[in-house]
Amino acid sequence: MTELPKFNAYINGEWVAPSDGRYFETVNPYTAEVWAQVARCTPEDANRAVEAAHTALTRGEWSKLNATQRGALVHRLGDLIKEHAQELAEYEVRDNGKLINEMLAQCNYLPQWFYYYGGLADKIEGAVIPIDKPDVFNFTRHEPIGVVAAITPWNSPLLLLSFKLAPALAAGCTLVIKPSEFTSTSTLKLMELVEKAGFPPGVVNVVTGFGAEAGAALVEHPKVAKVAFTGGTESGAYVYQQAAKTLKRCTLELGGKSPNIVFDDAVLDDAIKGVISGIFAATGQTCIAGSRLLVQEGIYDEFVTRLVDFARSARMGNPLDPNTQVGPVTTPQQYDKILKYIAVAKDEGAEVLLGGGPASGPECGNSKWFVQPTIFGGVHNKMRIAQEEVFGPVLSIIRFKTDEEAVEIANDIAFGLAAGVWTQSIKRALTISNAIRAGTIWVNTYRSISYMSPFGGYKMSGLGRENGIEGMKEYLQTKSVWISTATDVPNPFVMR
Ligand code: NAD
Repeated sequence: MTELPKFNAYINGEWVAPSDGRYFETVNPYTAEVWAQVARCTPEDANRAVEAAHTALTRGEWSKLNATQRGALVHRLGDLIKEHAQELAEYEVRDNGKLINEMLAQCNYLPQWFYYYGGLADKIEGAVIPIDKPDVFNFTRHEPIGVVAAITPWNSPLLLLSFKLAPALAAGCTLVIKPSEFTSTSTLKLMELVEKAGFPPGVVNVVTGFGAEAGAALVEHPKVAKVAFTGGTESGAYVYQQAAKTLKRCTLELGGKSPNIVFDDAVLDDAIKGVISGIFAATGQTCIAGSRLLVQEGIYDEFVTRLVDFARSARMGNPLDPNTQVGPVTTPQQYDKILKYIAVAKDEGAEVLLGGGPASGPECGNSKWFVQPTIFGGVHNKMRIAQEEVFGPVLSIIRFKTDEEAVEIANDIAFGLAAGVWTQSIKRALTISNAIRAGTIWVNTYRSISYMSPFGGYKMSGLGRENGIEGMKEYLQTKSVWISTATDVPNPFVMR
């Protein structure tokens, strides 16, 4: 029997075995085969990585680079990602079973994060404050916040990591990354490029393993200044609590249950494609999934009939086949969760319009984790299927009459990550976009993301913003410097 590839952690510029020698298995969701072993890092490994990152931040070569030199390194990493996009995408597919088309498009787009933030590195300027005191020169500096723990989920590992890595490096921070235990290898492959780009040891480190072990140790470590977390709302809220004990800054990109609202004046063909892309692309395993479809009464029957017909034609299959449109679910836990929610929806009285169970057949290969694209009609917003994140190919359709009712339903939820609005009226587009409590609103499009535009959640969908200039500010802190030019010594017992 051939031995499985073994992936070690990346700490202080070296590939290191876990301190207690234990590895865990990683499974390809399409073949259902264990294809690699990954270091199960301990809290001791996490502590070593934080120490390395802290040394690189405070004393190493990295701390002596100027912003232009730092930016050039970040840019160089972008070039290397571009050269290796195909290879990285294949690792992503082997790890999470998402479509090669989707992962290749993501990996080809990743360099833009490194070019954008690499360019921004030397354009972060402080200010001279026209201070209201005599004989004082006061200015501000924006300094790196410190060591960052970047914790990522399994659905788009490299994209969600790039949201953090590119601005953090450009800001001058150092990082310890903890990828999801289900999808560690693409992040480790990226470290080969970090090394090749010439980042000094300790600037970027990766500890692989489990949230409660390596992840928790990072969140608790007093030398970590910031946690940049993407994952579920429950784990995010727990991480926030733990991080509060040492007053760490946190950005939390969490779950969603986004409304996709189709008004009666929408271009129906466009809206159908937008709705499909919002829920069945990536097998529904995206935080921005438009999993609550709100359809206006006048077009309800026609729209739903056409939507179901379109969804029925979705091709399931091998994610490495460029013709596949819906791949397997990434993990057995997630597969069970999706089926549980399908059962809940049926119990609640929702009507199955399409799918509604596990999928099997030759197109599913050896995978045991295919779920049929599923559409429920007759859903009310108070049902669990309308309120809780499924993170799978399951769409709930809710009927509405007026614009006011659409807004009320859209906002009647704990989440606020994104929303879609389909209308030809500019007035309606603006009014509804302003009224919806979510961090991203798409009008006549869905599932668009850019390195330039801030992304993040309202309410239980998270804290802080990634991407754009706002995303960079999350890795900086401001220092105010006061220089006195006074010649006389003022009264020391009175505040100046
Ligand atoms: P998860 O919360 O289970 O895990 C995310 C990461 O956190 C993993 O690396 C995990 O090991 C780590 N982790 C878990 N508990 C931890 C702890 N106590 N301390 C430190 N680290 C811990 O999420 P998941 O199942 O991997 O991903 C799916 C979830 O992520 C969904 O809810 C989805 O909506 C969300 N998500 C959000 C966004 C966004 O940008 N808002 C993007 C993608 C995914």
